[in-house]
Amino acid sequence: SKTYRICLIEGDGIGHEVIPAARLVLEATGLKFEFVEAQAGWETFERIGTSVPEATLEAVTHTDATLFGAATSPTKKVPGFFGAIRYMRRKLDLFANVRPAKHHPVPGSRPGVDLIVVRENTEGLYVEQERSYLEGEIAIADTVITRKASARIGEYAARLAASRPRKQLHVAHKANVLPMTQGLFMNTVLAEAARFPEVKTQDIIIDNCAMQLVRNPERFDVIVTTNLFGDIISDLTAGLVGGLGIAASGNIGIKHAVFEPVHGSAPDIAGKGIANPAATILSGVMMLDHLGEHETARRVEAAVDKVLQEGPRTPDLGGNATTLQFAEAVARAL
Ligand code: NAD
Ligand code: MN
Repeated sequence: SKTYRICLIEGDGIGHEVIPAARLVLEATGLKFEFVEAQAGWETFERIGTSVPEATLEAVTHTDATLFGAATSPTKKVPGFFGAIRYMRRKLDLFANVRPAKHHPVPGSRPGVDLIVVRENTEGLYVEQERSYLEGEIAIADTVITRKASARIGEYAARLAASRPRKQLHVAHKANVLPMTQGLFMNTVLAEAARFPEVKTQDIIIDNCAMQLVRNPERFDVIVTTNLFGDIISDLTAGLVGGLGIAASGNIGIKHAVFEPVHGSAPDIAGKGIANPAATILSGVMMLDHLGEHETARRVEAAVDKVLQEGPRTPDLGGNATTLQFAEAVARAL
C-alpha cells in the first residue's frame, strides 16, 4: 500500500500536545505514514524572526497533506510578525475553510446537528490591511471581495451540498448593509449554486443565521459565508456540539491542504498535558478522507466517538484524562 507523506506542524501552546497525540492515533491505523516535521507560529517568530520559514512552505507543498496544531497571534501589532495559519491560507491559496459541526456523544452536544460551515479563506477582512490616523484616534481596515474568490467558494460549497443527503445550502451575508462587498459575495455564490439545480439554496442575513443556529441548528446543512463571519459562526457551531475540544477543520486548495483544529494555542492550559486532542484527531480524519482513505477515516471517527462516550474524557468535557491518555484510548479502540 501507499506511504503517505504528512507534514506535521505543532505551532504554539497546546499544539505541542495535540499534534503528537494525533500522530499516535494515525500510526495506530495501520496505514503507512512518513512524517515531515516543520515549524511555524509565534515561537518560531521569536526564535528566527519569521512565523513561516521557507522550509515550512516547502514541507507543506511537497507532502500529501499537512496537520497543523495551533499558533499564537498577539493582539498588539508586532513589527515583522504575521499570523502563521492566515499567511499559509493566502500564500498557498487554501481557499476553502471547511468546518463541520456534527453531534458527538459529549455533554452539551445537540442531537440532530450535522452541518458544515464553508468559510471563504483568502480575502474579506482577513486581507489584514489596517491603518490608523490622527495618532490612533481613527482606524480603518479594508475588506476585499472578488467575484473570482466568491465564485470559487460558491462552487465548492454547492458541490459539497450536492454530495450530502439533504442537499441544502445557505449563503450567509450582510448584503443589506454592505451591498457592494457582501452583495457581490451573495450574488456570485447564488449564481454558482444555480448551476446545481438539485441543491436547495437560500440566502440568509448573518445575524439572523446566528440566532437560527442557536435555536434550530438541526435545520442547517451547508452554510457558506465570508471570512470573518465564517470564523465567528464556526466557533458558535463548535459550541453546539461540545466545544472547541472536538471541532475540526480543513483548509483546502486546488493543490494543497492543511488540516487543523478550530481552536487556538489555549495559553491558559498549555503545558499541562490536559488539552483535548479530539479536535486534532478529527482533523486527521478529515485529512484521511481528503487522501481517499474513507474506510480508515470512518474507523478513527468511530473510535473517537467510542472514547468520547465511554471515557476517559479530558477536563473540558468533564473528565480527568490527560491528552495522551485520551489518544491512547482511541488507538486501543481502533
Ligand atoms: P483558544 O481556542 O486558544 O482557547 C479558547 C478557550 O478554549 C480556552 O479557555 C482554552 O483553554 C479552551 N480550549 C481550546 N482548545 C482546547 C482543547 N483542545 N482542549 C481543551 N480546551 C481547549 O482561543 P483564544 O484563547 O481566543 O486564543 C489563544 C491564542 O490562539 C491567540 O493567540 C489566538 O490568536 C490563537 N488562535 C489561533 C488559532 C489557529 O491557530 N488557527 C485559532 C484561534 C485562536
Ligand atoms: Mn477562529
